Amino acid sequence: GLHLPQRVRHHAAERPGAPAVTCGDTTLTYAELDWRTNRIATALSALTSDGGRVGALLRMRTEGVEAFVAAAKSGLVFVPLNWRLPAAEAAAIAVDAELQVLIVESEFAAAADAVRGALPSVVVVVVDAADGDVLPRGTWTWDRLVTSGTATDPGLGDDPDAEVLQLYTSGTTGFPKGVVATHRNLHNEPEGLLIYRWKPGSVALDAMPLFHIAGAGWLSTCLSAGVHVVLLGAFDARRVAELVERHRITHAFLVPSTIQMLLDVPDLDRYDVSSLELVAYGSAPITTTLLRRAIDRLGCGFVQRYGMTETTGSVTALAVEDHDPSGLRAHLLRSAGKPMPGVEVEIRDVVTGARLPVGVSGEIVCRSRNNVAGYWRRPDETAQLLTPDGFLRTGDAGHIDGEGYLFVTDRVKDMIITGGENVYPIEVESVLAEHPAVAEVAVVGVPHRTWGESVTAVVRLVDPSNQPDEQDLIAFTAARLASYKKPREIVYVAELPRGASGKILKRTLREGLRATEV
Ligand code: AMP
Ligand code: MG
Repeated sequence: GLHLPQRVRHHAAERPGAPAVTCGDTTLTYAELDWRTNRIATALSALTSDGGRVGALLRMRTEGVEAFVAAAKSGLVFVPLNWRLPAAEAAAIAVDAELQVLIVESEFAAAADAVRGALPSVVVVVVDAADGDVLPRGTWTWDRLVTSGTATDPGLGDDPDAEVLQLYTSGTTGFPKGVVATHRNLHNEPEGLLIYRWKPGSVALDAMPLFHIAGAGWLSTCLSAGVHVVLLGAFDARRVAELVERHRITHAFLVPSTIQMLLDVPDLDRYDVSSLELVAYGSAPITTTLLRRAIDRLGCGFVQRYGMTETTGSVTALAVEDHDPSGLRAHLLRSAGKPMPGVEVEIRDVVTGARLPVGVSGEIVCRSRNNVAGYWRRPDETAQLLTPDGFLRTGDAGHIDGEGYLFVTDRVKDMIITGGENVYPIEVESVLAEHPAVAEVAVVGVPHRTWGESVTAVVRLVDPSNQPDEQDLIAFTAARLASYKKPREIVYVAELPRGASGKILKRTLREGLRATEV
C-alpha cells in the first residue's frame, strides 16, 4: 500500500523501535504510533458515522499526529482548525464541517464551548485533562479514547479516493472554505520524493501547524518515508536551532519568515546546526537576499516548493542543484523550479484563458492528481477554481522560461501572505468599515523584512480633522480578528485611487506605499 495508514503499518512492521514522532519529551516509535492509532481509530469509528469529520484545536503535539493517522485509518476526515481564530469563527467552521468529534487542548476551552454551543451533538475530547479536572458532561479524555478502542486496524484507510483531510483557507468572500483532500491527493509520487534525498536515519523538523498544508503535508510525506519527525511545538525561531542541535535534524520545512527569524537569532553561532542536510521552503515568496543569506549561513541543500492548499503539495520545486548563488545560473534563485513528476503547469491569459507562450506572463494553472476535487459544499467557488479542462487556477501570476522553469512574480488574487498566513483584505476591510470614524478603507500588503508582507490599511476618514489614534484603530480590528490579520500600520489619505469603473486601484496603492518606504 502507498498511503499514510499503510505506510505507518509498514514501518511499524519493518522497524518497530524506530522513532516516528517527538514533541518535547514525548517520543512515539512507529510500533507505538501504529498500535495507538489502531485503538484511537476504532474508538473514533464508534463515535462517528462513515466519512464523518473529526476536528482538532491543538498546538503541535503528538496527539495531533495520532489523530490525523487514526482518522485516516478509520475512513474519517481530519479537520485541524487554526487555534488563532476567535472562538466564534472556530465555531462557524465547526458547523460548516459538521464536526462529529472535536479534539482540543484545555487552553482552547472557550472555543470548545462555542463549538459545543453551536453543535450540541459534538463529542469533545480533551487531550491534556489532568487527574481531578472537572470536565463538562459527555467530554472524553485522550486516555479514555485510547483505551476504549481495540488493537485491530479498522482497515478503512485503503481507498485512495477516500477523503482524509479538510483544511480551511480564507476566501475572497471572507468566510473560510474547506479544502477537501483525498489519500491520492496527499500522496507524493515516489520519484517526486527523491528531491528530498532521504537517507536511513534522516530526522525531519515539522515547524508548521497541522492546519496548514505545509504542516500536514510535510508530516504525511515524512511519516510515509519512515523518518523521525520532530515537532517544533510552540513557535520560536531559537527553538528551531535548539531542536536541530538536540535531535541532529537533517531535514526541515520552513517558511521564508521563519528562515529570516532563524538567521536573525543573535547568538545563532552558539548552536550546532551542522546536521542540516536540506531545508525545504515555500508557502510565500522568498527574496534572493534572504535566500543567499540562508545558503551562506546554513550551508546545506535547499529545495523550494511552490504550491497551495488546493494542490495539497508542490506544483513545482527548485532542486538542490539549482541553488547556486555564484554560478552562471544564479538567476534560478528567483525561480520556483520545475513541475513535480506528474504535474502539468501552464501559463494562461487571465481574461481569455488562452495558453500563453514561453516567457509571457499570465496566470499559473496546473493539473495533477494532487489537485483537490474542490471545496466542501461550495460548488460556485469550486467552479471558479477549476477550468473546464481540469486545470486549477492558482491565482498567482508568472511565466515559464525556455528551459521550463517557473517564475512566480505576482498574485492575481487579492491575498496577503504575512508570516506564511494568508489574509484576505476583505476580512480586515469589513471590520474597519464598521468603525464610526472610517468612511472608506482599502487593505493591502506591503513588503516586510520578516513577515514577507505586512497588513496595511489605507483609510479615508469621515472627518479628516478628527483623526483617531492609529493604535486605537488597530486594537479595534484585533478585538474582532485573529491577531495576524490586524493591520500593523494605518495610513490616512484624503482620497483612494480609483479606476474608470470606480474600483479601488490596489496596485497603485501598493506602489505608492512601497515608494514612501524608501
Ligand atoms: P496556501 O494555500 O496557504 O498554501 O497559499 C498558497 C499561496 O502561497 C500560493 O497561491 C502562492 O501565492 C503562495 N506561495 C506558495 N509557495 C510559494 C512560492 N514558492 N513562491 C511564491 N509564492 C508561493
Ligand atoms: Mg500559506
